[in-house]
Amino acid sequence: MSGNPSAASVPGVLGAAEEPGEMHALVERLYPLCRSITGDGVRRTLEIISAEVPLEVREVPTGTPVLDWTVPKEWNIRDAYVKDASGRRVIDFNACNLHVVGYSVPVAAVLPLAQLRERLHTLPDQPDLIPYRTSYYAETWGFCLSANALAALPDGDYEVRIDSTLADGHLTYGEHVVPGQVEDEVLVSCHVCHPSLANDNLAAIAVATRLARRLAAGTDGAGGGRPWYTYRFLFAPGTIGAITWLARNRDRVERVRHGLVLACAGDRGSLTYKRSRRGDAPIDRVAQYVLRSSGRPHTVVDFSPYGYDERQYCSPGFNLGVGSLTRTPYGGYPEYHTSGDNPDFVTEEAMRDTLDACWEIMRILDRDRRYVNLSPYGEPQLGRRGLYDSLGGRSDTKQAQMAMLWVLNLSDGEHGLLDIAERSGLPFDLVADAARALCDATLLEPVKQW
Ligand code: ZN
Repeated sequence: MSGNPSAASVPGVLGAAEEPGEMHALVERLYPLCRSITGDGVRRTLEIISAEVPLEVREVPTGTPVLDWTVPKEWNIRDAYVKDASGRRVIDFNACNLHVVGYSVPVAAVLPLAQLRERLHTLPDQPDLIPYRTSYYAETWGFCLSANALAALPDGDYEVRIDSTLADGHLTYGEHVVPGQVEDEVLVSCHVCHPSLANDNLAAIAVATRLARRLAAGTDGAGGGRPWYTYRFLFAPGTIGAITWLARNRDRVERVRHGLVLACAGDRGSLTYKRSRRGDAPIDRVAQYVLRSSGRPHTVVDFSPYGYDERQYCSPGFNLGVGSLTRTPYGGYPEYHTSGDNPDFVTEEAMRDTLDACWEIMRILDRDRRYVNLSPYGEPQLGRRGLYDSLGGRSDTKQAQMAMLWVLNLSDGEHGLLDIAERSGLPFDLVADAARALCDATLLEPVKQW
């Protein structure tokens, strides 16, 4: 059997590369940037992520056809404000980038309040909060502010200025690859297109960077060894970014064996797993097993063609085995798409819990195999092969012995380790460790599946 697992391989224990509070610190660092589906905010975001895990950054020109879409013009913004008659900024992009409707075209005008109002977006039911609005595919402009701030504006003329550009440029996305033993891939996808929104955007980015680091340190339960799969992390703008990636990787999409769209990864709610369109993909089964067996409160929901980029990966032409993991899902919390989704809304503990769940899911996906018992006629003699002795130091000797018996009995080439863990009620790691010990004793051999 293997020795004591290292800290990096034990769920819930800080890996060597993780410091307390560092995911939250990354969220805070990314929070002020004005991201959109294109532009320098995305580039700067990818630069900061690159300091955590190295990225290959791709630039795709405006006008490039991607599946049924076209890469749009690139949007950049330097400043925007509404000034009252005294010259005071009553709405200021520099104070909060949510104040400007994303993809607003440039404007410089003086307007009476009655006319300006048509361009202002508020949330009357949440009067303290600024809404998040965009208009990617219809050229327009507008401002967002709290209903209370609007109510405080006196009648009169206001100077309006949006210093933006909407011009031919590029769509930018980044990829990080953790190499595996096989070319088959596990895809982890996060959107990077929201401006100052912490849970809906940044928490998943922070979790993904730490997941990549843990995977690079190995998945075999002993803290070493290259992962089996190649893990591809995609940091791309929502919808158009995923569509662009799929269009540019069409001939290799079939390598994606499993995948997870990560979003809303840091709020205080419990985890929600959304199944792939297939509903019975291996990741669906593993994610449900991890959530159930960990005892976490959680929810599992069926696929629907809405939400995040699972919509693209699970479109019928691709139909990939890609599920989605969130805490409180899309639109399910009052702070969603408002200035209330700020760094105070996400916690390190919640992000770590999401990270641990992802890590457990990936480790099981990575280790789940079918084996064949090479001595299937009667029980093989374990004592003669030193297999009982190898259990001597363990506190769970009895369970480890049971795991060997279950693995030997069910390894007929049809049942995988997760099948065996579920049927025996034994922890997956114990079953996987038993399989390794039995392989070392040449009683078991993996079925070639790739
Ligand atoms: Zn969103």
